[in-house]
Amino acid sequence: MDLYEYQGKELFRRFGIPVSDGRLATSPEEARKAAEELGGQVVVKAQVLTGGRGKAGGIRLADGPGEAEEHANAILGMDINGHVVRKLWIESASDIEREYYLSLTFDRGEKKALFMFTKEGGVDIEEVAAERPEALAMLHVDPLEGFQPYQSRRLIYGAGIEDESEQKQIATIAERLYAAFVGADATLCEINPLIVTPDGEVKALDSKFTVDDNALYKHADIAEMRDLEAYPPEERKAREKDVTYVKLDGEVGVLGNGAGLVMSTLDVVALAGGRPANFCDLGGGGDAGGVVDALEIISADPQVESILFNIFGGITRCDEVARGILQALEQMTIGEPIVVRLDGTNAEEGRELLRDAAPENLHVEPTMLDAAKRAVELAA
Ligand code: GDP
Ligand code: MN
Repeated sequence: MDLYEYQGKELFRRFGIPVSDGRLATSPEEARKAAEELGGQVVVKAQVLTGGRGKAGGIRLADGPGEAEEHANAILGMDINGHVVRKLWIESASDIEREYYLSLTFDRGEKKALFMFTKEGGVDIEEVAAERPEALAMLHVDPLEGFQPYQSRRLIYGAGIEDESEQKQIATIAERLYAAFVGADATLCEINPLIVTPDGEVKALDSKFTVDDNALYKHADIAEMRDLEAYPPEERKAREKDVTYVKLDGEVGVLGNGAGLVMSTLDVVALAGGRPANFCDLGGGGDAGGVVDALEIISADPQVESILFNIFGGITRCDEVARGILQALEQMTIGEPIVVRLDGTNAEEGRELLRDAAPENLHVEPTMLDAAKRAVELAA
């Protein structure tokens, strides 16, 4: 789960990483009020789950409340890389002497956290890595040893920080960033830029913070930070109903049970000359409730022209699933044709149930390939 800048900074603050004072605003009036409370110059910052906000015009300095309100008016509703701005972070402006870059990511190859630090901050780190790799200090942290003081010295000398006060502050920030990374089960903690003010104070001016979804159960406070409004409506519903749903770009809605079967169904749709619009994984379930939820989510996607139901009965019995489909169709109207392929445990009973009930937009096919071909045909 990606956090907004203001949420990441809240976690930074909790772990003792210096950040500026700020307020959240969702309207120009709130932005004005925030600027009044903060006093002095402020920065109006678009809160979207994407980078490059500065370049897109989503970050602007304001001399006071009036200007903050004007900038808020201009930035709210702005589209930044496909993300519409609905929230602003109004922060006390900092004077910047230098911009550095500090991050921690999870290096899956090494199975260790990886620190990256360079004096060339504020720009794309990929650019620094490609063009001036010698300017980039990189360092792995052994999860059992934890972050050691000699490692911060290596980072600091590796990047060429000479000022003693900066060295001390950066060492402390690196240590706390590691604590935040481990403490929040993060997969990414990035500070770009990490600034030095004219007074020599080092602080985080930006935050990119990604928390491992699988660890959210341990962090109720972070899980609560999820902004459901940032997701399309059907994805929001899928999260609420705890259904695995992935949006794709074609026209055939795909429903299956089990990740492997769903993945191969996507391939077979492509083989039949179509493109999946999305997919839902029913998992081990197949009861009416689960089928209704999944059908609701899939058919809410306006790109769906036909629905392909692919079930292999193992522990899940096909007759159960067939009953689920029929009950779902009683409870809701689905405009798009549905093609069903059932195989495995009690498949014959399941097909019979569907044939007997014979809802008008439901087509039963014997094999996965036949079903995919039919669904693609019906979507055309
Ligand atoms: P990003 O473009 O999405 O990475 O957003 P950042 O939060 O990193 O801001 C982009 C740039 O805006 C920074 O690199 C700074 O140069 C500038 N900026 C952000 N906050 C301040 C501030 O408080 N004072 C000044 N002078 N510049 C700022
Ligand atoms: Mn940034």
